[in-house]
Amino acid sequence: MGFEFRKEYVKDYVAPYGQEIMHGKIALEEHYESPQWEATGDPKNETARNKEDYFEAVKARLHSADIRIADMDRNGVEMFIMSLTQPGIQEVLDTKDAVARAHEMNLWIYENYVQKYPKRFNAFAAVAMQDPESACKELEFCVKELGFVGALINGYTMKNDKNNVEYLDEKQNFIFWKKLVELNVPLYLHPRDPVPNQQRAYEGYSGLLGSAWGFGAETAIHAIRLLCSGIFDELPTAKLILGHLGEGLPFGLPRLQHRLNNQKPCGAHKKPLTEYMEKNVYMTTSGHFHTRAFIDTLMECDNRHVMFSSDTPYESLDEAATWFDNVPLSYADRIRIGRTNAAELLKLNI
Ligand code: MN
Repeated sequence: MGFEFRKEYVKDYVAPYGQEIMHGKIALEEHYESPQWEATGDPKNETARNKEDYFEAVKARLHSADIRIADMDRNGVEMFIMSLTQPGIQEVLDTKDAVARAHEMNLWIYENYVQKYPKRFNAFAAVAMQDPESACKELEFCVKELGFVGALINGYTMKNDKNNVEYLDEKQNFIFWKKLVELNVPLYLHPRDPVPNQQRAYEGYSGLLGSAWGFGAETAIHAIRLLCSGIFDELPTAKLILGHLGEGLPFGLPRLQHRLNNQKPCGAHKKPLTEYMEKNVYMTTSGHFHTRAFIDTLMECDNRHVMFSSDTPYESLDEAATWFDNVPLSYADRIRIGRTNAAELLKLNI
């Protein structure tokens, strides 16, 4: 099976009676923030939305590798792939500042996590899509020099003004996709709030703007734009990762394609969107620990493209791992989804 029991990463853990624990898991959507970032960044909408006691636990983990490692040990997780918390670089309005801060954050996570604990942490590069050419250079530096495993981008990019936004399917960003393919690394498309001047549907219900609903709705349409754009015809080996069980696409895409079959062309894509979904898109379980939705994802997708993740520190690793370790799966599928799919996609040397 190629799976080794890594007991050295699980200290003092006794699973509750009747529960199993899978050791050696890898999780891909785990966020950080440097103390410097917190001090200088804009106030986070998610901070304002949440209960105070909830955010204490979140904050403790945002900066601390040691707490994260204790969480991982307790839950049989061997490696976290770290990424800068949303909206990160994508909300930095000044292009020069965005480019500089992306580089600074990549060095920070490298020095404080990846270099110190190479067996426990790797990272996705933060990149400034405000300047796609610089983003290519930063990605190449992170992959070749720091050993990072891809890029994570928090949705659309704001440029000069909060309502002047750019999506990843737009032609100025094509060179970045080409760079991802050249380096053979995936792009993780992570959620953020809907565009500020396009939030009418949420008026009166601002609690829905973030991870409760707006994140998924915004990311789903962003991903659908990419599927429609033809980018996966031009770059058939490009790889896109979506969190939260594919942001609703496993459920919604068959219906979407069914209707497109009767419509005039929508974008430049040559094949059914469901085909790109199967070949180019990967999904994680981040923040969505619900068995029936998980089964739907497995029914709609290639199970070699589904991967465990938790979405810490906003979600509890205890909850994510206990759910995953006990969700009904064959032994082979649990190993694939918990570990080997990620190890292969990210070419992890573990
Ligand atoms: Mn997340």
